Amino acid sequence: MPLTKLKGKKFFVMGLGKTGRAAAKFLVEELGCKVTAWDAKPAACEGLPNSVEVKKPSTIDWSEFDGLIKSPGIPESQEDVFSALAAGVKLWSDIDLAQLRAPEATYIAITGTNGKSTTTALIGHLLKSAGLEVEVGGNIGRPALDMPVLDKNGFYVLELSSYQLLSVNTFHANVAVLINISADHMERHRTMEAYIAAKERIFRNQEPSDLRVVGVDNYELEKLAISLGLGVRLRRVSVTGVGAGVTANNEGVMFDYDYTPPKAIYDLSKQMRLPGKHNWQNVVCAWAAVKDFLTVEQFVAGLESFGGLKHRLQRVLDHEGVTFRNDSKATNADATIRALDSVEDIFLLAGGQAKEEGFVPCLEHLQNVKGIYLLGEAEERFAKELKDADVPVKRCGTLKEATTAAYADAQKYAAKTGKNPTVLLSPACASWDQFDSFEHRGNVFIEIAYDLCGMGQPPEEEEE
Ligand code: ADP
Repeated sequence: MPLTKLKGKKFFVMGLGKTGRAAAKFLVEELGCKVTAWDAKPAACEGLPNSVEVKKPSTIDWSEFDGLIKSPGIPESQEDVFSALAAGVKLWSDIDLAQLRAPEATYIAITGTNGKSTTTALIGHLLKSAGLEVEVGGNIGRPALDMPVLDKNGFYVLELSSYQLLSVNTFHANVAVLINISADHMERHRTMEAYIAAKERIFRNQEPSDLRVVGVDNYELEKLAISLGLGVRLRRVSVTGVGAGVTANNEGVMFDYDYTPPKAIYDLSKQMRLPGKHNWQNVVCAWAAVKDFLTVEQFVAGLESFGGLKHRLQRVLDHEGVTFRNDSKATNADATIRALDSVEDIFLLAGGQAKEEGFVPCLEHLQNVKGIYLLGEAEERFAKELKDADVPVKRCGTLKEATTAAYADAQKYAAKTGKNPTVLLSPACASWDQFDSFEHRGNVFIEIAYDLCGMGQPPEEEEE
């Protein structure tokens, strides 16, 4: 459908976060649409283009409207959305509009329960480092309509959440990646079937010749891969050695079965930026998604220069045999378990604002842990949960005290054993008790690490 068909139409934009604002601006300034918009927060309704009318959805006569764009956080079952859809108003996402605006480019879309941002950033980096023109956005924090318009040589790499996928209309991915699936966001999707159905929408509108990449280590996703049918381009990926198009075995060697005999592409256990099987899954998905555009050599060069994503097992620095890793995004026990299973000789910083499950699920994953340093509101609770653990536990109160104590013990351990221990911030807790956000907590940790090692201020981040 050409974008001109939407010229001058009447749209309602519900929710004025970054995405809604970008959409309102685009509709007014580039399509001459008549836009009405609303956000429950009065401050969010300010600074819109002059012609935008701000009006409460409950007062709207929906018969006057052609289209609705809503913030992904607003459920389809919400009364106003329901009324609009019942009146025949068409739901659009900003992703649809972005593609209509730049229809010639190649679209690589990524979804899954976990690893979306990592895989999206990695794919973007791989293509960029091979010299291609690439824009990365979507759920990763950059609205699709804030990206520049690319021509037929350009690539958009888009992270899409299940909520965003529920609103896509005309969007069509040239390459669609579904990494994995596990129960999450059940308060909105209600059943696992509904959640999978939302994720499956990433394949909507694809032609048989477009590529589908599916992580088949989940039983549900193998079932889904089968249901996609024969005669469509499908690449199965696996990290459990299950026969698939691209497979990493238990040692981390990644094979591509499109070659005869299967070609060993890379030994993932040799790289330190993306440690752990969960990250191997992201890399395997990335190769399956980009292999039509890159050579193996370009892929390997890109992988080796990928800096990893901030706050996700991020390697901060190495100093005199001790590594510091920032996994501040691990705000629950599940995420901390993945870190504990991915790194060796760990001096763990844990605590903050505890989640329901506390530290208990981590207790069976302490084999690589040499010491635990507790902080924050959860300190007392975690200390109790750890009382029978076979690991020394210190109560430190603050992140600074915890990091200082962990570093001192890690240095002694390195001197004694000749090994390379890691001071790991993977708190299994939210950050709100002592910090503004998990990003803030991670940044403070990085500063403390640099300071303790006498390395001054951390370097400025380079944007990918
Ligand atoms: P998302 O964007 O889907 O939230 P991220 O890439 O931001 O995922 O990673 C968030 C956390 O999820 C990481 O810190 C890690 O603990 C975990 N994770 C990353 N990739 C995977 C994966 N493939 N499978 C399971 N867990 C993962």
